[in-house]
Amino acid sequence: MKLLVTGGAGFIGSAVVRLAVSRGIEVVNLDALTYAACLENLAPVADNPLYHFVKADIRDPDALETVFDAHQPDAVMHLAAESHVDRSIDGPGAFIETNVTGTYNLLQAARAYWEGKGRPDTFRFHHISTDEVYGTLGDTGLFTEDTPYAPNSPYSASKAASDHLVRAWAETYGLPVVITNCSNNYGPYHFPEKLVPVVILNALAGKPIPVYGKGENVRDWLYVEDHADALLCVLKNGERGRSYNVGGENEAKNIDLVRMICAILDRLKPAETPYADQITFVTDRPGHDLRYAIDPTRIRTELGWKPSVTLQEGLEKTVQWYLDNEAWWQALQARDGVGKRLGTGTSG
Ligand code: NAD
Repeated sequence: MKLLVTGGAGFIGSAVVRLAVSRGIEVVNLDALTYAACLENLAPVADNPLYHFVKADIRDPDALETVFDAHQPDAVMHLAAESHVDRSIDGPGAFIETNVTGTYNLLQAARAYWEGKGRPDTFRFHHISTDEVYGTLGDTGLFTEDTPYAPNSPYSASKAASDHLVRAWAETYGLPVVITNCSNNYGPYHFPEKLVPVVILNALAGKPIPVYGKGENVRDWLYVEDHADALLCVLKNGERGRSYNVGGENEAKNIDLVRMICAILDRLKPAETPYADQITFVTDRPGHDLRYAIDPTRIRTELGWKPSVTLQEGLEKTVQWYLDNEAWWQALQARDGVGKRLGTGTSG
């Protein structure tokens, strides 16, 4: 089995690559190495003969054709994307180019390759997407795979568009696809701009811990290593043409999540005053969805997958990882344009 993983130098992609290689799967990681990439995330597999890296951009169709010809993958797992909602509000163009046109280029390259091989049933194009395509929920209800799409941010609209392209390539050309839509991930190697690392790192630095609005927004939190396990499960056992929602079964208000992290830090690295004293409410993000929550029935009943950790357990592991890996996040914070976003508040 040889996998072509796009975006494998990012947060979730690198977790997928590490897990796949540890299970004896050969992986070709295709990544353009944007600001969000970090090859250090792949240190555990860098010298493994099952791991290969190709620097390429999904906006470049010729480069994609070359990669398919050279590596002959059995399946594609497509994670490369512009992924930060706040950045999509500041500059939506890059999200259209990579998430929409880039996905189109990858579908075309995968289709030409698959057709050239005689359209094998065993081939898979696994598209990794977000629950944000469904828009927002009120106080009750859950997203199922049949919830109508209603994206509210440029990021979620670009991901929704990419999901539709993948579906259309299955319906029109017969390409064997699976799609997964997951909730907010957190865990080791999470880029320092995202909510969980912002809370940990600002707390440790004695800086204000920014929370949008009153922190009432609700998210379902999925530990990234559980997500990687779910993705490999769907790739192997998912039904061709089907979508699966992946959640952590861990709904929490942002303010409660932030308080949980502060309490863990109080225990693992006590400061003079409780870290929660640093919480500061900041002006809400425009179009900020109130609540996302996943109905995990399909993946649970059809594929027998469920998350292995609770939010408390996953956060404990995550906080400990950041305490143990200062060099990793300090190097990223020192990069141009990253540090300035710390303190702006984000919800994923
Ligand atoms: P990330 O921003 O950490 O990583 C994205 C990776 O894609 C980076 O390594 C980057 O270099 C690469 N990339 C970006 N543009 C590229 C291009 N044009 N060509 C090739 N490579 C390119 O993202 P992530 O958080 O790991 O998310 C991975 C996928 O999962 C994305 O598709 C995202 O939409 C989806 N997702 C993420 C979350 C989450 O909580 N992080 C939740 C749901 C879905």
